[in-house]
Amino acid sequence: MQFPRKGRAPADLLAELEALKGHDVLWAEGRVFAYIYDAGPVAMQLQKDAYSAYVVENGLDPTSFPSCFELEKRVIGMALDLQQGGPGAEGNFTSGGTESILLSIKTARDRARELRPHITRPNIVIPETGHSSFFKACAYFDVEAIRVPVDPVTYRAVPAEMEDAIDDQTILMVGSATSYAHGVVDPVEELGEIALRHDILLHVDSCVGGMYLPFAKELGADIPNFNLSVPGVTQLSMDFHKWGYAAKGASSILYKDGDMRRWQIWAWSGWTGYSVINPTVLSTKSGGPVAACWATLQHLGREGYLELVEKCQDASRTIIAAIDDMPALRVLGQPQTNLFSVASDTIDVFALADDMKAKGWYIQPQFGFSNSPANVHLSVGASNAPLVNEFVRDLGECEASLRERGVTGLREMPQEMAALFESGGDGNMLRTLGEATGVDPDNLPERMDTINNLLNQMPSPLRDKLLAEYVNRLYSND
Ligand SMILES: *Cc1c(COP(=O)(O)O)cnc(C)c1O
Repeated sequence: MQFPRKGRAPADLLAELEALKGHDVLWAEGRVFAYIYDAGPVAMQLQKDAYSAYVVENGLDPTSFPSCFELEKRVIGMALDLQQGGPGAEGNFTSGGTESILLSIKTARDRARELRPHITRPNIVIPETGHSSFFKACAYFDVEAIRVPVDPVTYRAVPAEMEDAIDDQTILMVGSATSYAHGVVDPVEELGEIALRHDILLHVDSCVGGMYLPFAKELGADIPNFNLSVPGVTQLSMDFHKWGYAAKGASSILYKDGDMRRWQIWAWSGWTGYSVINPTVLSTKSGGPVAACWATLQHLGREGYLELVEKCQDASRTIIAAIDDMPALRVLGQPQTNLFSVASDTIDVFALADDMKAKGWYIQPQFGFSNSPANVHLSVGASNAPLVNEFVRDLGECEASLRERGVTGLREMPQEMAALFESGGDGNMLRTLGEATGVDPDNLPERMDTINNLLNQMPSPLRDKLLAEYVNRLYSND
């Protein structure tokens, strides 16, 4: 695309921006069970207005923009209250769960460098259900991640196995509340005891659960304790832009002992420019996300969130009960909330996702990994709730049809792919995959089932290599 010579009129540009959305998933109708968190038209409009009101302000410098600073402190104050931080707890507003987790691992690493000089090869111990952003953080900050299998029935971390994985280089352990894939809460109290016994940090990843579990618990769901009040828990990440229904770009990293935050902060005056003091990763940052977040939390309040969570809980129970009656499908683990995944021993779940897509629904394919089989994930939001009966009917129809047609998903691995996997892949993996499957690697196909079935059979490092190559090509500038 060429850089334009002449500028264009705002109305023209806004119309083009709107038109570009034409191929997006149909989130506004409540047919998407991932990515979107919609608390209704009033909250949505408020969020847009609040965001716009602060879109130009710069959160980089609290002395120039005390407004952004004040909003951040208020939001973090509410987060600490919800997660029972207690006296001395501190936190920061970040751009997302990934940034919160990056900061947590950086803090843990730098703290170990100062306080535990015998640690030269730091590692963290994390259940296999732990979010990918911990592995990203480990890759970025040169920390080793020791993955521990979870219980094959409940998909919860197994405390004894977590403890066995700890060694003299371990700086931190991870528990999820909830895990994204299966929506289950790890036994955080037991993990806390282990962390105390070994004098290591414990990060509770409550990115997706943090703004949901406290309310679900209040409504009577059977949820174990997981927040900052649990002995041994030292830090917790919580997103506002998931079940907090805030505009995207809103998360938090919270520390029980606020003093730990000093290892998080970046300060630099060793150059010719202005002194940079960044508590988080971003430097220049819009005030939009924090303003929209503050307004959303204040607008909904505990009562608003309780109402939203109740809708999601009811809708989830309806869907899970219906799935329990579908012969080919089963829900993995015993999810207590609105996130869960659905597997099958007899039909192809990736074909199920495609067939549902053809009926206008989006459910999220997840590959098999370790003791978790291939599945489709659902995040059930308040905006999905009114359509639940229609959803369940369509899901039942698709399930029955796949069963009748005998679509099993156990595809043969093409010879050339199998050989490629044996060798660990090469630079032509994409072309080979395209030839083997008839899928054009430069255009996303309508149906992903063939390609998903092949990817599902690959070892994950090879899958990652191939997907990275694919995305690298997808983003090519031509
Ligand atoms: C979404 C999520 C993250 C990462 O959050 P982003 O906001 O997407 O960066 C981390 N952990 C869990 C459990 C999540 O669900």
